[in-house]
Amino acid sequence: MEALVFHGARQLAVEDVPAPQPGPGEVLIRVHACGICGSDLSGYVGHSPRRNAHIPLIMGHEFSGHVVEVGKQVRRTAHDSLAPGDRVVVQPLIACGVCPACRAGQTNICPNMAVLGIERAGGFADLVCAPADRVFKLPVQVSDLDATMTETLAVQAHVFRTMTPPLLRTVVVLGAGPQGLLAAQLARLAGASTVIVTDLVARRLEMARGLGATHTLHSGEEDVVEQVKALTGGWGAEFVVDTAGAPVTRQQGVAALAPGGTLVLIGLGKGETTLNFLPIVNRELHIRGSYAYTDDDFQRAVELIASGQVRVRDMIHLAPLSEGARFFERLVTQPEDLVKVVLQPG
Ligand SMILES: [Zn+2]
Ligand SMILES: [Zn+2]
Repeated sequence: MEALVFHGARQLAVEDVPAPQPGPGEVLIRVHACGICGSDLSGYVGHSPRRNAHIPLIMGHEFSGHVVEVGKQVRRTAHDSLAPGDRVVVQPLIACGVCPACRAGQTNICPNMAVLGIERAGGFADLVCAPADRVFKLPVQVSDLDATMTETLAVQAHVFRTMTPPLLRTVVVLGAGPQGLLAAQLARLAGASTVIVTDLVARRLEMARGLGATHTLHSGEEDVVEQVKALTGGWGAEFVVDTAGAPVTRQQGVAALAPGGTLVLIGLGKGETTLNFLPIVNRELHIRGSYAYTDDDFQRAVELIASGQVRVRDMIHLAPLSEGARFFERLVTQPEDLVKVVLQPG
């Protein structure tokens, strides 16, 4: 089969590799398409020790496809069996199931987690194997292409299901990449009447307005904190989602909060950030990390796409897997108007 194989920093090539065989409890899937995640990009430039430790690696954890073969000892319920031909999307996190986090249902923070496309072969290939319990069947309302956005949306489903107060007022979303554009949509669904999205790219802000942002701020040209205060009568935002993970957005996030407000961090940017902690104390601010999703969040993401409550199609740029290396390079050097690139084998 053909696969996009990662060999080290900026070394990515389409190669002919042996097709995988489903082991016990696994399912063999023909990939329809697989999205490029921001974390794949940091892997591509060599900044992901976990990926580097598994070279040569087929990356990709945002994929849909259909079942080709069901391995031995696959146990599903009578109502939810898997058979060749089933259209599916894969939740790529393989949690250990026995650590205290897993026992508490917080599989997203399992320290023993393995991920398809990081520790195991992923979806930038014709075929991929996945444990059967990681495979979610797609309802007819969700197209194969839209389904590739399930994983990205699940991250925001986790944020909005677990981190927000009910019935939001004002939400600020820092960064209008795929995560930010989805966060803006969920903010509206969560009741926010004011949704302010920031970015450095005008085209992305335009998309944000089309997807439910009530206001957008060009963070290179406007003072984000000042403008948030101006738009909220000096009060600030009760909920801020930082999808960028840069020191400057973290600082903006804290400064833009209303008293008692919450900043949720999902951007994976490394390094240290200097913060003034006094307002965190005397305004009772909350700063929380949010990582990945549980199976429940993932299922909710499928349902949000199926119901049409969240729109994903407009942010997808579909490209052939054979051009994968070119698109990885372009996304790290000059993404311009690309928001989410999804690679299609064959
Ligand atoms: Zn991802
Ligand atoms: Zn665990």
